[in-house]
Amino acid sequence: VVNLKKYFEIYDVKSKEKKYVKAVDGISFTINVGETLGLVGESGSGKTTTGKMILNLMKPTSGDIFLEGKSIKNLNKKEMRSLRKDIQVVFQNPYAALDPKMTIRDILIEPLSIHKIVSKYEYNNEVKRLLNMVGLSEKDMNKFPYEFSGGQRQRIGIAKAIAVKPKFIICDEPVSALDVSVQSQILNLLCELQRDLKISYLFIAHGLSVIRHVSDKVAIMYLGNIVEYGDAKSVFDYGAHPYTKALISSAPIPDPKRKNNGIILKGEVPSPINIPEGCPFHPRCKDAIEICKNKKPFLRKIKEDHMAACHLI
Ligand code: SF4
Repeated sequence: VVNLKKYFEIYDVKSKEKKYVKAVDGISFTINVGETLGLVGESGSGKTTTGKMILNLMKPTSGDIFLEGKSIKNLNKKEMRSLRKDIQVVFQNPYAALDPKMTIRDILIEPLSIHKIVSKYEYNNEVKRLLNMVGLSEKDMNKFPYEFSGGQRQRIGIAKAIAVKPKFIICDEPVSALDVSVQSQILNLLCELQRDLKISYLFIAHGLSVIRHVSDKVAIMYLGNIVEYGDAKSVFDYGAHPYTKALISSAPIPDPKRKNNGIILKGEVPSPINIPEGCPFHPRCKDAIEICKNKKPFLRKIKEDHMAACHLI
């Protein structure tokens, strides 16, 4: 992903002027084969818009996205069909992602037939194989989605995504609608499948606790910008940007002896229609100095495989 921007034009009734919502404001990152990038940010940070642009559901204002070195802009019909197969998505809400009127067998046959993955004589065997891969039984084939728990439905959503042998999956908050007890099972399943099938993941989340367990690299987004990016261990151990530090400090620690230092962010995320001048984080930053109000900091290397955008780093 190279210098990707998405601006939405709106009409401001008060000022009677055209304005731009800068949902994504020039972000870049790389995900290697079999690797997971955790993309973290609060609502309105631009992470979901980024996912939609990668899925080619939304055209970027500028910038580009490459899959295996090939731009996904201006694809012809055949290339677009191939892209739809290569990039899949697992949604946040397994309840809404499956057609309630279809059996699991039909739900899984649909992508197999659209992308001609196997011949129709092999549908049953392939459906059984997919169900086994995600920890479900072939006895489940003729059931409907309402007969499954949330975790099982998410397993079916994952089976649907891997059915077409994708190279890349966008996991859009895939466990946030599930019980905590089920979350780790789904995360483990995603990690196992990645290991076996060499799939790359973009793992979108609003907090760091889930990201910590699955990511090789992490990008922290704030108001359409990546403010910290790098090797996951380095970001968690040496989080440098004040926003990252606040996110890390608010993630629950499963150890009663350890306390986090509980940095509380003041105020709400500003509207993306009126992004503050200078560093977009400055109205909420306890470390802000004068320059932060008028000069935007850009990402720069602070360690090997680790970058942050802050005047004080
Ligand atoms: Fe805070 Fe200034 Fe750094 Fe922005 S540039 S994060 S306002 S210290």
